[in-house]
Amino acid sequence: MVVGTILLLVVEALLYFVVLAGLFRMRHRFGLGVFIAALGTLHFLETYLAAILYVSLPLGIVFSPGSTILFAGKLSMLLLVYVREDAAAVRQPIYGLLFGNFLMVALVALMRQHQLLEPMAERLPDFKLMNEMGGLMIWGTLLLFVDSIAMILLYERTGRWLGNRITLRVWLSLAAVLTFDQVGFYLALKFFVGAPVSVLIGGWVGKMIAVAIYSLLIGAYLRWGERRVGGADSPRLADVFDALTYRQRYEALLKQTGRDGLTGLLDRGRLNTEGPRELKASVAAGRPMSLLIVDVDHFKSINDRHGHAMGDAILQLIAGRLSATMRETDAVYRFGGEEFVLLCQGLPHGAALLAAERLRRDMAAATATAGQPVTVSIGVATAPHDGSDFEMLFTEADRRLYKAKSAGRNRVVGRAPEDLTVAPSRSGGFGV
Ligand code: GH3
Ligand code: MG
Ligand code: MG
Repeated sequence: MVVGTILLLVVEALLYFVVLAGLFRMRHRFGLGVFIAALGTLHFLETYLAAILYVSLPLGIVFSPGSTILFAGKLSMLLLVYVREDAAAVRQPIYGLLFGNFLMVALVALMRQHQLLEPMAERLPDFKLMNEMGGLMIWGTLLLFVDSIAMILLYERTGRWLGNRITLRVWLSLAAVLTFDQVGFYLALKFFVGAPVSVLIGGWVGKMIAVAIYSLLIGAYLRWGERRVGGADSPRLADVFDALTYRQRYEALLKQTGRDGLTGLLDRGRLNTEGPRELKASVAAGRPMSLLIVDVDHFKSINDRHGHAMGDAILQLIAGRLSATMRETDAVYRFGGEEFVLLCQGLPHGAALLAAERLRRDMAAATATAGQPVTVSIGVATAPHDGSDFEMLFTEADRRLYKAKSAGRNRVVGRAPEDLTVAPSRSGGFGV
């Protein structure tokens, strides 16, 4: 009996999902309107069943397949639209249902005023149902509106800590929202028809069963249901199973912009916007910030001897070493051809010189296997001592890089040794 009831619910949910998800899947051919119209049509059945059809499980649990299969299903489908399309697409059914429901309530209220023509005893209009289409319907409609928005926000939020575990995210979002919905709807039921607590529990159990089924189905759909749809003319990210939302796709794209195509490092444009901002923040917080300019030695001759492709490979290797050697909080930019800039927040000058020296040695060691090692020269300047304005700091580091080059390359140049000591006793009392 219990197994039979559950089995029946599974079959109902499966039928509901397969048909609607099928229409959704064919949106590229028929448009999204076909799917939305079908979803809206089922709303009438949902309301009708919620009023008249109830099933029972052990422990006195009673619920309506109308609100479990159809209402939970509707929310699941809205979430699927959001994941697959974007906020603009999912807004259409959400607003459509809201206004459609209001219109329905208004029309029912008007039509009840008609004089009935010789009603036959067995075909009386169901005034009980029509009565229930008043306050309860409006409340339920507003709840659906809030539910949909909360569900999307939750889905987005869970992405931060659950990432690609889509089924789990769908399940969590639907379970939380439908629990909230059940409490909200029960409060109205209690107010309008004095429903007992068992209605609250029963409805909740029913919705949770539906949530379990639907989240598995959505997870399966996102993994396997829509792989080839759209063909070659629908470009998409080569994501594991491409379940990124519109916002996530946008953010991924944003991350790629401002990146150098060859090395993947941040580009000069990013340095121009981020550099002054970071420096300002450091100076305001009273923290030092070091700027390193790294320039490859005799790179032109490397290109000449080994070809441009080899030159590119070496640049990629250097970029990789730079990122790997520096701290998480340091930012590495490709400034130009074979010039790189590093911004190190909170790094005092002495520590920056040590880091630069480590980089210099690491670079020569990393390229030593490829015949003659590729060496770099590095100029180091630290704010606020060498400049509390970004342009000044950069010019100072560049001047030191030039010094390193003219002193024979493959070296690090920082502040002159006499400048390194700022203690008044060692500076001859003149004040630095
Ligand atoms: P030094 O810095 O030691 O004075 O000598 P250099 O040969 O490195 O001097 P310069 O900065 O004048 O030359 C940089 C060369 O880098 C010029 C250009 O051919 C090469 N280059 C710039 N961008 C790229 C790139 O993306 N790929 C490759 N393979 N070479 C590049
Ligand atoms: Mg150069
Ligand atoms: Mg160079």
